Amino acid sequence: MIKRYTLISVSIALGCLATIGPVLTSLYVANREVETRDRQEIRDFASKAMMRTELVTFQSFAALSDLDLEPGAPCSPSSLEQAARVIYNYRYVQDAGAYADGRYLCSPLLGDVRTQDLTLPPPDYRSNDGFLVWFRQKSPLSDVRKDLMVGRNGHYVSIDPESYVDLIDPSRRPIATIQTTTGTVMAVSAGTDPDEMLNAWKHGGNVKSKEWNYAVALSSTRPLAVVVKSPRSSIVGDWPKLLAAWLTIGVVSGAALGWLAYKRITRQLSFTSTLEWAISRRKIDVVYQPIVRLADNECVGVEALVRWKLQGRAISPEVFVRVAEENHLIQPLTDLVLEKTFAQLGELLSANPSFYVSINVSSEDLCTFRFLNLLASSLKGTSIAARQIRIEATERSFMNTDATRGVIAAFRAAGHPIYIDDFGTGYSSLAYLQTFEIDVLKIDKSFVDTIAQETASSVVAPHIIAMAHELHLEIVAEGVESGFQATWLREKGVQYAQGWYYAKAMSARDLATWLGKQRQPRHADSLPSI
Ligand code: C2E
Ligand code: MG
Ligand code: MG
Repeated sequence: MIKRYTLISVSIALGCLATIGPVLTSLYVANREVETRDRQEIRDFASKAMMRTELVTFQSFAALSDLDLEPGAPCSPSSLEQAARVIYNYRYVQDAGAYADGRYLCSPLLGDVRTQDLTLPPPDYRSNDGFLVWFRQKSPLSDVRKDLMVGRNGHYVSIDPESYVDLIDPSRRPIATIQTTTGTVMAVSAGTDPDEMLNAWKHGGNVKSKEWNYAVALSSTRPLAVVVKSPRSSIVGDWPKLLAAWLTIGVVSGAALGWLAYKRITRQLSFTSTLEWAISRRKIDVVYQPIVRLADNECVGVEALVRWKLQGRAISPEVFVRVAEENHLIQPLTDLVLEKTFAQLGELLSANPSFYVSINVSSEDLCTFRFLNLLASSLKGTSIAARQIRIEATERSFMNTDATRGVIAAFRAAGHPIYIDDFGTGYSSLAYLQTFEIDVLKIDKSFVDTIAQETASSVVAPHIIAMAHELHLEIVAEGVESGFQATWLREKGVQYAQGWYYAKAMSARDLATWLGKQRQPRHADSLPSI
């Protein structure tokens, strides 16, 4: 019973594990997948933003080179025309003009301002290749606007810092462009803290935050960096969909696994554990089928056959005997059959020394002397002779040759005749089986069925009978269902028969009644057809 409870607990635990395990695994996998996608997406976006930064920067350099191409004096009509062309040609250039000695001179937008004292402070940064940069220079054209100015050779271009960060992005991820030599934030998306972006750049994007992911892209040609930040959950817009998909897979596979585990274990419970329980509680019955001598239709013995009813339904011995064999329950089952047979037929056997009972055993019973010893101790103190208890074993039981040969010899030495059951259904030859020194051959019902039929297998029964005669083995024909079969077998010299023509297997009490009726005087051929 303890085993039964253990199995139920294990079944429940397995069911839970099978259900929860895949769901948790799915969650973990989905989370990992989202994180990986998060990182990849923000890295890709940072690279795109860096392409924009480089484009804007190189446009400013190209614009300055174009301004140098005009040899005219600063603020000459031709220089101003050239500056106007530059503004027109370069999308990101907002204004282009001339300056000298810390003052604006002129530009197409400013006009000629040489007489006005429009001062230009010293640049914030000088590059090695001669460019001057004012990071946030107040435009003379506006009271609020601050431009990024790049100058060289007395020319300057103004860039709106927004140009660096106004990428079209449905997720509206904040961007910052940083000049890495000075650590200056040149441009940053509106509403974003420049110090936070600067900090992210300093840490290469590896900033721990529950809400945000950061990525940094560096320019390969200029001392420029771009920092992008992205909200962790919104970067992958389909994250809830992904999770739902994984959850569905998890729940479906979990439920399927749980169901399979439940089915398998409950089946195991009914067939193995319940069988074990039934054996230990002696809930298995034994019935007896008469074996008749064909010469005079006298019942000379019976075969003991197990019966088991589970919830009112009879389970075929073919099924549960196999389950018992596969689960090491066959020895207790054989013991129980022996015990019940002694209890139910003991008196009959003692009173009729020529009457016998044959017991079916399995290969496990023939590997050791255990069952023989049990049989010996059961016989002790009774008047039942050893020859009255016969042993039936199928061809399969003889496969474990070394161990079996000695045990079979010991059974015979102790006086128990050995029967080969279901002969012809295995693949062993009779000559091989005879090396085990057997006594009786039981021809399987499948061959008896073919008697006098015009089928290919109908030649097998006469062949087996002839061989058995040659080897001086007695024969019991199994599954005899008609008087025609009985007559045929008798004519072929088969000594014994067992089958529904004579009687089905019955309880010990019914057997006593049946035997009583048989002993009343009657004609040999007037047996009732059952
Ligand atoms: P088996 O030892 O060959 O037993 C003969 C089977 O044929 C029995 O089936 C019996 O009821 C059936 N039978 C007998 N006469 C007729 C007939 O005229 N027509 C038909 N259709 N069937 C007939 P059962 O009782 O269902 O047993 C099936 C098998 O289960 C047995 O075949 C035997 O191999 C195994 N078995 C039964 N009891 C035991 C047991 O106590 N121990 C072991 N190890 N195996 C057993
Ligand atoms: Mg048998
Ligand atoms: Mg048989």
